[in-house]
Amino acid sequence: REVLYPHRRYEDSADSKSALDAHVARSGPPAIVEGIQGCIGNTPLFRIKSLSDETGCEILAKAEFLNGAGQSSKDRVALSMIEIAEEKGLLTPYSGDTIYEGTSGSTGISLASLARAKGFLAHICMPSDQAIEKSNLLLKLGAIVDRVPPAPIVEKDNFVNRARALAHAHTASTTVPFTAEEDGHLETHERKVCGRGFFADQFENEANWRAHYSGTGPELYAQCNGKIDAFVAGAGTGGTISGVARYLKPLLPNITIVLADPQGSGLYNRVRYGVMFDLKEREGTRRRRQVDTIVEGIGINRVTANFEVGKELVDDAVRVTDAQALAMARWLVEKDGIFIGSSSAVNCFAAVKTAQKLGPGHRIVTVLSDSGSRHLSRFWAKAGDVGGAVDTKLEDVLNA
Ligand code: PMP
Repeated sequence: REVLYPHRRYEDSADSKSALDAHVARSGPPAIVEGIQGCIGNTPLFRIKSLSDETGCEILAKAEFLNGAGQSSKDRVALSMIEIAEEKGLLTPYSGDTIYEGTSGSTGISLASLARAKGFLAHICMPSDQAIEKSNLLLKLGAIVDRVPPAPIVEKDNFVNRARALAHAHTASTTVPFTAEEDGHLETHERKVCGRGFFADQFENEANWRAHYSGTGPELYAQCNGKIDAFVAGAGTGGTISGVARYLKPLLPNITIVLADPQGSGLYNRVRYGVMFDLKEREGTRRRRQVDTIVEGIGINRVTANFEVGKELVDDAVRVTDAQALAMARWLVEKDGIFIGSSSAVNCFAAVKTAQKLGPGHRIVTVLSDSGSRHLSRFWAKAGDVGGAVDTKLEDVLNA
């Protein structure tokens, strides 16, 4: 085995031997797989050279944007939710069954693709203020796109609550309403339905964390020869961090699990202080205010079922501001040619902070959930072009 970092060479533990043997046995030319769903999982793990050189740690990134259906880590979750529903008899292919989900992003795209691959319809409820390219992409994937006026989660008309209600109505009725955008207006229509409705429910459905427990976690363990000092990830539903932590922690009791949390999320305080709020002192006054973020896909203000099952395993949290996420995203293009989305930038920033905390010689693993091309109109519009920049200092990124 080529040793790129001799001073960071680790002995394989006896525990990891069987996982390593299994991994080696599987290697060789990639096999022919069945359908687009066969292109999910077994993503590469690569060393981010600039961040490793700067920190003296090995910073490794799981290229989840290479999952084949929806090009994000959510492919694993969507496939797991569908397969477990099929096993439970809640979904039958080519019988008219519809998968309902409330999502403005990656999960809907993965579900829409896999629904087509496996013989279901996808009905995606999303807030009407979301970027139009997302609903266009869902339409291209053959999903029914239901644009729901924005409403808080506690309200009946919130997009997640609407998806749940429609799934139940589907089974009981012959028509289901949906709202489409036409010439800038929202128009409500009805569609005839048959079969059954299934609410995927990524926040509460345990098929979510189990996909990472049985996929992402074992892959990381095998790819790292059982040598991981820290795992760093954000939480949108909590599925990734909980599933990976639950797999790795029993095998590697000394591993540090770190939550990467964008500004405005309540989880940082939940992990660090055991309280669930995100209120920031406004300078010069005693008034507190809620902080918003441009980061998409991670950061929440409630403990979901998928975060709940892993929250006791999370050792530390790093808060990342929008400015820091933008600076890190630009850095990774400038130094390494890596073009990622906002949540991945938050993860990489937190990985560097973790490296500094643990000190040189450690191996830190994080996740690149999706590519920058999903974030051109919002996050990358703010990040701007890297141009010919070659001399940014990591200090400037950390202090952004
Ligand atoms: N990044 C992106 C782009 C996402 O869409 C999500 C999921 N909402 C995450 C990260 C976080 O993953 P999880 O839901 O497993 O916490």
